[in-house]
Amino acid sequence: MSFPTDITNIQNQLNRIDPKAYAASRNYLNGAVTRLSPYLSRGVISTRQILQSLANRGFDLGQVEVLVRELAWREFYQRVWQSRNPDDDLRHTQSPCIGPGLCHSIVHASTGIDAIDASIRTLSETGYMHNHCRMYTAALHCNLGQRAWIDGAQWMYYHLLDGDWASNACSWQWVAGSFSSKKYYANQENINRYTGSTQTDTFLDVPYESFPEMPVPAVLADSTGIELSTTLPASDPIPEKFRGKVFLYNYYNMDSTWCAPEEGLRILLLEPEHFRRYPVSEQCIRFLLDLAGNIPGVIVRCESFASLQQQLPDVEFQFREHPITRHYTGVMHHREWMCDEVTGYFPSFFAYWKRAEKHLRRYFG
Ligand SMILES: Cc1cc2nc3c(=O)[nH]c(=O)nc-3n(C[C@H](O)[C@H](O)[C@H](O)COP(=O)(O)OP(=O)(O)OC[C@H]3O[C@@H](n4cnc5c(N)ncnc54)[C@H](O)[C@@H]3O)c2cc1C
Repeated sequence: MSFPTDITNIQNQLNRIDPKAYAASRNYLNGAVTRLSPYLSRGVISTRQILQSLANRGFDLGQVEVLVRELAWREFYQRVWQSRNPDDDLRHTQSPCIGPGLCHSIVHASTGIDAIDASIRTLSETGYMHNHCRMYTAALHCNLGQRAWIDGAQWMYYHLLDGDWASNACSWQWVAGSFSSKKYYANQENINRYTGSTQTDTFLDVPYESFPEMPVPAVLADSTGIELSTTLPASDPIPEKFRGKVFLYNYYNMDSTWCAPEEGLRILLLEPEHFRRYPVSEQCIRFLLDLAGNIPGVIVRCESFASLQQQLPDVEFQFREHPITRHYTGVMHHREWMCDEVTGYFPSFFAYWKRAEKHLRRYFG
């Protein structure tokens, strides 16, 4: 599994979405999922573009509703990050929680649950994990291993090419029950059904009723602390005495079409402080730099916004709204949403969807 980084291939992937097959099979490991999340999360494409493309291809809302709902989950989480800090338990305190740390067997893909171990290996090799396997892994870490969700989230985010702190932290909290009304569990039968494995007699081969009272399984008992850190590339030189517009790209805005006809200096700003807080793997940085190849003339700077500002005192910075750009100053552009109308914090997806659904009908005539 690889993720192309040139625009033509990304566009082809978008045009090939099969919403009917998606609806029938998205929960299965070999299902017709889109694998577009790395491009959505890096801001290369938007949820609106996907919806518009489906409408242009003549689908009606009924035919694409399953996919649209998933895209709406994404927007729902983005709205949460706009109004809350997703590092904090959002609705309930995670409980029980024996403390920080990562289950040693999760990090080393040795939980003994074959399908989960295989998906953890795939994650570190390719930077992708199927949604169901993310849920299974998170449930092992926080609900059976009883470790703090945030440590598991940071480890998974580190590896994911589609790492997006809104979707990541909120999904982990959804599994852990701190942003939902109950914890998520999956037993061996469920894992076998969706991954095609046939394992039996594992510690998950039990009825659902036994999960809430289950003591931490021996294989999840040992915890490990791992140092996650980001290796940033070298900075390019800044053209001397530049004046004019500077377009800022970052880990969440790699849209090569953004203000494309306008003249100016294009800078991919990688702030060390951001990556100290949200570390990512070398594979993620490579993917990002390959995507930067789509932005003509872009230069890379690894420094804070304040430091960049000092070196470019006579420019007008242009940037896109995002929680990671709150300290930027200059001209702020809005992101492209599928549903601009529904903003603010909603305590549940259901509450968000009730408001968003009617606005989404407009794409389909
Ligand atoms: C523990 C956990 C961690 C996650 N971390 C991330 C993350 O860091 N970044 C990220 O983009 N997604 C995350 N997700 C959500 C989801 O797993 C991925 O978006 C999806 O698997 C990406 O693959 P895809 O593009 O093939 O998805 P598809 O099934 O093809 O879905 C299309 C798009 O809909 C959105 N979407 C689908 N499912 C979800 C979902 N459950 N929640 C939110 N949006 C969804 C995504 O933008 C996705 O690209 C996480 C889910 C869990 C359970």
